[in-house]
Amino acid sequence: MDQGPGGLDAVALRWGAATHTGARRTLNEDRFLAGSLAFFVADGMGGHEAGEVASATAIEVLAPLAAGLTDARDGAAAADVERLLAAAHDQVSAIVTVPGREAGTTVSGVVLADQGGVPYWLVVNLGDSRTYLMASGDLEQVSVDHSEVQELLEAGMITALETRTHPRRHVVTRALGPGAPSRADYWFVPVSDGDRVLVCSDGLTGELDDDQIARVLLEVPDAQAAADRLVREALAAGGRDNITVVIVDAATQGGEQTAPRLPAAGTDEDTRPRDEALAGGER
Ligand code: MG
Repeated sequence: MDQGPGGLDAVALRWGAATHTGARRTLNEDRFLAGSLAFFVADGMGGHEAGEVASATAIEVLAPLAAGLTDARDGAAAADVERLLAAAHDQVSAIVTVPGREAGTTVSGVVLADQGGVPYWLVVNLGDSRTYLMASGDLEQVSVDHSEVQELLEAGMITALETRTHPRRHVVTRALGPGAPSRADYWFVPVSDGDRVLVCSDGLTGELDDDQIARVLLEVPDAQAAADRLVREALAAGGRDNITVVIVDAATQGGEQTAPRLPAAGTDEDTRPRDEALAGGER
């Protein structure tokens, strides 16, 4: 449990996190950051140990966000995240891996941010790890996957059900790492009392659908217990990939927020994946 500085005093957070190699893989290439103001999951790729190094690098570079942002002016939080993601991109791009492969990593998560005195979740996404928000009992995926199957879904070429079994479902279209820097997507979502944020790697969402995830989030009040339970259920469902879950619960003193959702200043509102598919994007 922790409290934010300045305008974030009215928000108290509790969180839990769990990660597992899964039932089939020998390495866990997922990494996470949990607390006290920043919560991220990174899912590395690249062969041998390069994926582990890539995801660990991204999380290390983002770690200063956990201590709080020094400048709470409007838009400052997104600028800080952008600056750190650019640094992480450079470091991940420099990782040496086996010939024909490149090291890369997804990044998804939230930073608790102040926008003109109002506490917001600054949601950040690159790749196909996901950030969800459960508010008033409804689970919503806030991030939009940067993946080939998401593009096919949006083009009406496959159904949501088909995305779960499509042979190219692991191919991401944006990530930190190889090639030109990919733009992250940003959303500002006002914090409401009782919000529960879920950040996870595709090892969770590849095994459990949104209804199964929502049921656990509703049934298990404690954040750590809920994270542990989601990992257990994903393992029981097959555990074909590394599984990482971060859960953040918010309590606010001010009651219901009526502030609107905002796009982050200076960032692209268009969230559709658009970059070239990454070579070797299997995870
Ligand atoms: Mg994965």
